[in-house]
Amino acid sequence: MSTSLIAMGVAIFLVINLVIGLAALSLIFGTFESLFGKPKLTILRATQSGNFFAFGFKWNSSKEPVKIDKVGLRLFNPFGNPTQVEVSKSFDAKTSSFATEVDMGPGFIELLGAQNFDFAVVQVVVQSSKEGIAWQFDMKGPKFRKLVSGANLSVDQFTKEKALAADKGSKPPIDIPIRSFIADTVPGKGSQLAIPTNPAFAAQFAGTAASAVSGGAVAAPGAPAAENFKIAKVWIEPGCIVCNACEDIYKDVFEVLADTCIIRPNAPLDDGLRVQEAAEACPVEVIKFTKAS
Ligand code: SF4
Repeated sequence: MSTSLIAMGVAIFLVINLVIGLAALSLIFGTFESLFGKPKLTILRATQSGNFFAFGFKWNSSKEPVKIDKVGLRLFNPFGNPTQVEVSKSFDAKTSSFATEVDMGPGFIELLGAQNFDFAVVQVVVQSSKEGIAWQFDMKGPKFRKLVSGANLSVDQFTKEKALAADKGSKPPIDIPIRSFIADTVPGKGSQLAIPTNPAFAAQFAGTAASAVSGGAVAAPGAPAAENFKIAKVWIEPGCIVCNACEDIYKDVFEVLADTCIIRPNAPLDDGLRVQEAAEACPVEVIKFTKAS
């Protein structure tokens, strides 16, 4: 066999090996990309209570150079009330992975406090308004609630830990109005939520604005006034999301701290109706009480 034939054989062998190697590498990196290159949402601990939603979002901004400027939360709750809630908010556009805390408005509390939330699905949608791109993360109600109430990292801690650009605040360039829908329930399941914004109950609540402002429980016109009662014991079970609702209703009894709510020492226990009102307003139903006999 001549030397040139041997050299040609070696060259062909090397080229085949190179092609196989490149194919293997591209397969490996493709798999890594599909496994680890997907945008990732992390729900964080809001440092401000109530309507605030904190989250971190990581994506490959060199591959997808978009400006992210909006987050939305959607509740699909076919077996409860309300059956659907959607809130969205704009913030300063981000061009690389970030973490931020956004005031979602009262719709966020309504969403968390929906009846039959455990059977609902929550979608978190992170969007680029300009490019018309959105990433959607679906999870069941209990998982979402657990992530929100159990989040440990704040925006600052997450930013530091992931070496992200510092968040410069979340003042919205355009304040998108909060939208909330109350749709019909699935026939035979649940009942309509009796709140003033539900068209089905509009007549019932007509003219009750004054009593709502005074801080008392809202009663339908003509309904007999509920009799007040004394409380034997009131307490908070684990799971408070520090929304402030209870303290707003009855601050002599409830005190909201940085990460939970407590009952004030020597809290008055003679206005059971207000304690009951606070318990009913608690979106995660952790306020418990017993009536005095
Ligand atoms: S106890 Fe309930 S109403 Fe009060 S702050 Fe906690 S979650 Fe809100």
